[in-house]
Amino acid sequence: GAPRAPAEPLAPRDVFIAVKTTRKFHRARLDLLLETWISRHKESAFIFTDGEDEVLARHTGNVINTNCSAAHSRQALSCKMAVEYDHFIASGRKWFCHVDDDNYVNLRALLRLLASYPHTQDVYIGKPSLDRPIQATERISEEQVRPVHFWFATGGAGFCISRGLALKMSPWASGGHFMHTAERIRLPDDCTIGYIVEALLGVPLTRSRLFHSHLENLQQVPALELHEQVCGPGPAGPSWVGGAEFYVEQSCGNTAPTSTPWLCRLGSPPPPPRPFSASLRLPPQVTLSYGMFENKRNAVPVKGPFSVEADPSR
Ligand code: UDP
Ligand code: MN
Repeated sequence: GAPRAPAEPLAPRDVFIAVKTTRKFHRARLDLLLETWISRHKESAFIFTDGEDEVLARHTGNVINTNCSAAHSRQALSCKMAVEYDHFIASGRKWFCHVDDDNYVNLRALLRLLASYPHTQDVYIGKPSLDRPIQATERISEEQVRPVHFWFATGGAGFCISRGLALKMSPWASGGHFMHTAERIRLPDDCTIGYIVEALLGVPLTRSRLFHSHLENLQQVPALELHEQVCGPGPAGPSWVGGAEFYVEQSCGNTAPTSTPWLCRLGSPPPPPRPFSASLRLPPQVTLSYGMFENKRNAVPVKGPFSVEADPSR
C-alpha cells in the first residue's frame, strides 16, 4: 500500500523477534547472527532452539530451550512455534515477529514498518509464500473433512503479528493448542499461522515486499535498495524500486531530487501513474536471507570489504 504516517512510535523493546534455530546450526548459522544484527539488538531477539549451548548462553540471556525434538519434522517445527507464541504472550510486547536463523533483520526498517500499524488491531504482515492461496484439507472431526484455502506468509522470509491479533489466536495457538491445530491441516508451522489468522479468524494477510527469503532470487534485490533512498529523475527506465510498494517511472538514487516532477505508481498492480513533486522516500528492506538455489549460491549482491569466499552469506 501507500506510505503511511506512523500510528505510534516503536522502540526495540516493543518487538519480540523469535529466531528459530536448532542445535546443529548454532555454530554454522547463529554465530553469524550474533556477530551482525543480533549483537546490536539483543533486547529484541529471542533465540528458540532445541539443545543446551554454553557458548551461546555467554552471548545472550535470551536463549530458550524449547525441549522440542531436533528433527526437521512438521511436529518439531510446530512445537517450536508454539513455544515462541507462548513466550511472546508472556512478554507483554506489542509485536511478535518470527524469523529463521538464515535471516538478517534490519531492525530500524522493521520498527518503521510496524509503527505504521496499530498493534492493538489485527495485523498479520509478511511475504506470501505462493502466488495463490494454499489449498488444504481441514479435519473437523474423526470422520469429517472439508477443503479450506488461505494465504500465509513464508516463515523463511519472516512475518509479524500484532498483539491484538495474537491474543485472538489464543484458542488455537496457546499452550498445546498450536500443535493440535497444525495436526488439523497437517501443514508446516508457517502455514498453520496463516490457517489460524486467515481461515479461522478471517483476518487477511497484509503483503509486504520488504521481507525476503532464499526461495526468491536474491540477486534481484539491488544493493542500492537495501537502504532508504530518495527517488528522483534519472537515466534509467521504469522499474519497481525498493522491493517496495512503489513503481517508479524514472530511476531512483541517493541523490537529492531536482525540482522536475517524476511519476510514481503506488500499489500492486500499479494504478495509473501519479506525478510527484515532492521527494519520495522509499523504505529499506526489512529482512534478507541467503542459501542455495539449483546448486548455485543465492545471496544479496552487496559489495563490501569481504570477498564472497570470506563472507558467502553477505
Ligand atoms: N530448523 C529446525 N530444526 C531442524 C532443521 C531446521 O528448527 O531440524 C530450522 C532452521 O534452524 C531454520 C528453519 O528451521 O530456522 C528452516 O531451516 P532451513 O533453512 O535449513 O530450511 P529451508 O529454509 O530450506 O526450509
Ligand atoms: Mn532456510
